[in-house]
Amino acid sequence: MLKVTKFGGSSVAGPAQFKKVKAILDSDPDRKVVIVSACGKRFSKDHKLTDLLYLCHAHLEYGVSCDDISSQIEERFSEISRSLSLNPEIEEEAKHCLRSLSPKMSKEWLVSRGEYFTAKMMSEYLGFHFVDAADCIFFSSDGELDKMKTDSAIRSAYEKYGEIVIPGFYGSLPNGRIRLMPRGGSDITGSIVSAALSADIYENWTDVSGILMADPKIVPDPKPIHTLTYSELRELSFMGASVLQEDSILPVREAGISLNIRNTNDPDNPGSLIVEKVLSEDDDDDRFITGIAGRKDFTVISIQKRNLKVSESLRKVLEILERFHIGVENITLGLDSFSVVVSSASLENMEFEVIGDIRKAVQPDKLDTQDEISLVAAVGRKMTFRPGISGRLFNALGNEGINIRTIAQGADELSIIVGVQNEDFETAVRVLYEGFARS
Ligand code: ASP
Repeated sequence: MLKVTKFGGSSVAGPAQFKKVKAILDSDPDRKVVIVSACGKRFSKDHKLTDLLYLCHAHLEYGVSCDDISSQIEERFSEISRSLSLNPEIEEEAKHCLRSLSPKMSKEWLVSRGEYFTAKMMSEYLGFHFVDAADCIFFSSDGELDKMKTDSAIRSAYEKYGEIVIPGFYGSLPNGRIRLMPRGGSDITGSIVSAALSADIYENWTDVSGILMADPKIVPDPKPIHTLTYSELRELSFMGASVLQEDSILPVREAGISLNIRNTNDPDNPGSLIVEKVLSEDDDDDRFITGIAGRKDFTVISIQKRNLKVSESLRKVLEILERFHIGVENITLGLDSFSVVVSSASLENMEFEVIGDIRKAVQPDKLDTQDEISLVAAVGRKMTFRPGISGRLFNALGNEGINIRTIAQGADELSIIVGVQNEDFETAVRVLYEGFARS
């Protein structure tokens, strides 16, 4: 059995967190592969190492001294190294690196030193072998992952050393230069490594006990989601739930590996398990909504015309939106009317041109735009093919006096998405949670 574990910035923020990571690994010998982020915040006003490193680079670029910032970074490394009595060579290497910063260094290389030194210290503390991501995560010159080369390097490092720590967030290009992934990219490294090793599970350790059924800023104390499918996760994150980004899910999902989100500060909590398919014996809850998510600030463009040729007019509208690079979030069709929902931000500064072009192309009797619209999605695999659910949802919203502006149901019936006024957004989320998700 092999469990690949990834520890985020807050899980490796300081010596106390390093100890928690060790306890987690010691408690399960299957946890043999570790990916780490750079040290994150120890308290709310603290800084992430990655942010400090970006700042250092910006100072160097403009010829301003970054000594104050680099010494803060140095102190973070020393604090960990000394409290955990690590081999002083790593601290020395970090010191040497931070004291010889120059504008000639590439931003990517400099910023990746956060993960590099955090992983070096973690490997020394755990007694695992350090494997530099530059030697096992490879990109082609177009910036795409070179999967074959990467998989084979990761496999041979694992076969050779058995217990390894790899820094997240970066890899190397064919010319040896460092390439960074998007922010939060250590999640992607963890996923790539899990897939390369056909791990039994990818454990993503963070500072929350999994995914919650609704945003805790809107719903007080929402319940956690114990088990969900990758498709549900995709719907929820698309609709604004802050979970792992798409790029980090793809490699494990494609490899058929389940993903477990866990809390380093509450290791006994099972967190959320994300699987391709929920087997009925794993399905421990009887709620038919898995989660509720939503986003604000959309614009509804509505078109009415007598004897409207819906498909032709819709095609024209979609072509115009595509030409302006405006993504469509939702479409509602009537007999002589239809409306298209787009994000208000994407329309900014071009609304007049877009609307003008639509008018010219479709020549509607009436064209309306309404902004300040929110989309709220109820997501749940158990809503699928179950009669009466949407009726109950709409009823609950109606009873609260919330007017539904648009309605859409995914073709797979995995989600029902309603458009409401921005001012009704929070109430709509709360009503759906209270009525359907709490059980
Ligand atoms: N350290 C990087 C960041 O702050 C990558 C990561 O944490 O995954 O974005």
